[in-house]
Amino acid sequence: MGESQFLMRPRPLEGESLSSWRQRSGWANGYNFFPTIDERTRRVDPDIGANSEDLIWLSDAHQLTLEEVKALSLAGYIGRLVKNVDGVKHPRFWLRARLRSRVNSYGPMFCPHCLGEDEDPYFRLAWRFAFVTECGKHQVELLDQCPSCMSPGWPTAVGETQDISKKFISHRYCWKCGFDLSKSTTSESRNGVGAVLSNGIDTGELKLGALAYPILDVLQAIRGVCHIFIRDRERKAIISANSKWSEIARGLNLRKVNPIAIDYASVHERNLLVPVAYDIVKDWPDSYREFANQNNLSAMNLGVNGALQPEWMNALIANEFRKVQKTTETCVVIAFCNEWLARTGNWPTRKDVRDKFGPKAPDKGIATVFKARLVATEAESNLFYERLHQQLSIAMSNKKDGQTRLLDYATLLLANLRQKSLSEIANETVCIKPELQHALSMVDVAPKCEKASLEVIDLLESRTRPQDREQINRPISHRQLQRRTTMLMKGMDVLLAREPMVFSN
Ligand SMILES: [Zn+2]
Ligand SMILES: [Zn+2]
Repeated sequence: MGESQFLMRPRPLEGESLSSWRQRSGWANGYNFFPTIDERTRRVDPDIGANSEDLIWLSDAHQLTLEEVKALSLAGYIGRLVKNVDGVKHPRFWLRARLRSRVNSYGPMFCPHCLGEDEDPYFRLAWRFAFVTECGKHQVELLDQCPSCMSPGWPTAVGETQDISKKFISHRYCWKCGFDLSKSTTSESRNGVGAVLSNGIDTGELKLGALAYPILDVLQAIRGVCHIFIRDRERKAIISANSKWSEIARGLNLRKVNPIAIDYASVHERNLLVPVAYDIVKDWPDSYREFANQNNLSAMNLGVNGALQPEWMNALIANEFRKVQKTTETCVVIAFCNEWLARTGNWPTRKDVRDKFGPKAPDKGIATVFKARLVATEAESNLFYERLHQQLSIAMSNKKDGQTRLLDYATLLLANLRQKSLSEIANETVCIKPELQHALSMVDVAPKCEKASLEVIDLLESRTRPQDREQINRPISHRQLQRRTTMLMKGMDVLLAREPMVFSN
């Protein structure tokens, strides 16, 4: 695509995002969809600005300087909002384009009233910042989905070019269904926190309490607090503390998206959470202390996001909140368990105990109550070997994907014979075959597996083609071994440790 194909060169508008501007340029030159160097670059999120080849091509084609083009993307905010944009790691506080997922299709946001009033409707770059949740001009909560089809209003990097609505001739209309986005219903919002933080980004710092901090630190501190609310365990602690934050924690409907980070949550959840998080750090350190104390949060809770939090935040947490959490007495836990047994006929599970005692569940008490049995009964051992034998036979008769199964079950047998834990055996990255052969030569320890074991050796010999070696030499997945063990132990006493070695006698 050459420079000559852009006859019309609309200038970027105030605060416009790169993707919005290039789409408008595309329309001005008769394209339905913004042109790219090639289709590969279309799938990349252009608003990050990590692809310099792309930026140079755009600046050439539109007769703008590279800096002017960069300023439309996140790359123009290095040092103020992100440390860098390497195109590999997802930038913090950056909303995803969310194209692959149909269910959680929260995407870049928009203000319906801005789109309605714009002479030439356009998307703002700030509508991709996860800490921005409202339109300061119209004092409404931004939207992050087309209310008609639930797609992101303007996804910025549409991997698909087929499924575009014919009505998509301006950013006022949903690219997917053509809905007039300016007709969307909005709800009032005027906490002003997004604006405060945006100001900080302009000046590079923000005052928290008596001192000014680099804005990157401030954003990370806010993020850290948001993540305390996002984590199940900490949120439950806040809810049960009955503090002034409990209501907010209770009101967060995170189930639907189950976010692992604040920028996965919907704009509505973020608009509840970000202002609260800002409030908690605003009068640093007093406001933070109050929050931690009133919710009985310890260093363990506050440090869930420690690696990402600013050093001054971690220092305060370590100095003031590394306290031993008061836990419930072990005898109280035992009494609870006995009462449960009498009532239901079963010993409670660990989860039942944790549910009952909440964050104060005493790890020591639980360990006492749930002291695992390390030796199986003869009947349990027989059942285990029988099932293992069965699985080995199935694996051997299955030509197609028997290899992995066979190795897994043979490894379980090995763990059993060698008295090794699953994690030990999984960590052994050495070629498992000679080990296995050796172990299987002692099969009389496990008579039920004798026949299968000899077959295993034969099969490994015959199947060890060069292309299989890599597979055989690969470390074995610990999780997979755990899953298989759990399956073999189905129906057995829950207190029996989930390790094959408990069956050797
Ligand atoms: Zn607006
Ligand atoms: Zn739509």
